[in-house]
Amino acid sequence: MTSSILPVYARAPLTFESGEGAWLVTDDGRRFLDFGAGIAVNALGHSHPHLVKALQEQAAKIWHISNLYQNPAGERLAKRLADATFADVVFFTNSGAEALEASIKMARKYHAAKGDPDRFRIITFEGAFHGRTLATIAAGGQKKYIDGFGPKVEGFDQVPFGDDAALKAAIGPATAAILIEPLQGEGGIRPVPPERLRALRRLCDERGMLLVLDEVQTGVGRTGKLFAHEWAGIEPDIMAVAKGIGGGFPMGACLATAEAASGMTAGTHGTTFGGNPLAMAVGNAVLDIVLADGFLDHVQQMALLLKQRLASLKDRHPAVIAEMRGEGLMIGLRLHVPNTEFVKAAQAEELLVIAAGDNVVRLLPPLTLTDADVLEAAERLDRACTALEDAMRPPAQGAAA
Ligand code: PLP
Repeated sequence: MTSSILPVYARAPLTFESGEGAWLVTDDGRRFLDFGAGIAVNALGHSHPHLVKALQEQAAKIWHISNLYQNPAGERLAKRLADATFADVVFFTNSGAEALEASIKMARKYHAAKGDPDRFRIITFEGAFHGRTLATIAAGGQKKYIDGFGPKVEGFDQVPFGDDAALKAAIGPATAAILIEPLQGEGGIRPVPPERLRALRRLCDERGMLLVLDEVQTGVGRTGKLFAHEWAGIEPDIMAVAKGIGGGFPMGACLATAEAASGMTAGTHGTTFGGNPLAMAVGNAVLDIVLADGFLDHVQQMALLLKQRLASLKDRHPAVIAEMRGEGLMIGLRLHVPNTEFVKAAQAEELLVIAAGDNVVRLLPPLTLTDADVLEAAERLDRACTALEDAMRPPAQGAAA
């Protein structure tokens, strides 16, 4: 059957009908362990009762009001996010790319409102991924996403990941901000060392630039802190968030200090759907769980257990796994075999993992996973590695053709 959906996705031949916790069930009854969580989205797993209840109750009341009227649930969620972070204000969006667009516009407007409209350039890093809008593909700087879509949006200067000299050379009077993921996701789970993040913060302070963090993938508990930058003990001026913040409901947010947001006055930015009552109900329900005592401890404990299991997996399968890296429940395995083959081998064991750049597979399980889920995933990964090793072995001499 030919599909009427625009063919921009290479979908696996799997159809999921229901889910519970870290598990997904296909239309033919197979149970998959979900270590992708919809690309770090289902932070609280599938069908979390508290989220289901919040969505159902809100759906029976009101779905949409627009941003023309008051939004009490949005006010509450914004206040809770501000209280839990560096931020004073929050702008709600529907996706990560829109959270980045808001962040980019805010950083530019900050300097414009201070009388320096030519100061609009933003430094980004090789391997970055910030979304698929015209500005965010320019920010990400990856040729494969930019080519064929007309002139690249002006104002982004990309430097090699971890190259301080190149970074300093790229800064000029027109540089408004530095934009970075504290731990690159799509780029291949490449962490920015805490000391480097601190150095970027200092550099921004010295040069009057804003530090903009893309925590779309790393945020909302994924690394074992509410936001990944907390590991480095620094605070950004602006931060883009999405994915886990809605637990599976499409939403994102741009968080900022009052100073960084000072150019964003009434009418300068907006969205029809952002902050929709359904999203706000679910967002508040997600925070109920993530901010509860012990939740982040659980993430850190599960991360430790998973990393221990993965370290021994790497020792047992050195021909398959080259390196393990990452923070919390955002872990990458750099491979000796093609990552697409690894994803298929894991799927054959009814385990979902996700490919990333630098020939890495990402493990991004729901943050609510249990010890038993971790141990089960380790066993399935072990079998997948064995299958890949068997496939690599030359056929035995004299074996039938
Ligand atoms: N930024 C990062 C770090 C991401 O990982 C992603 C998506 O994978 C985005 C931005 C874009 O988010 P969205 O796909 O919701 O637009």
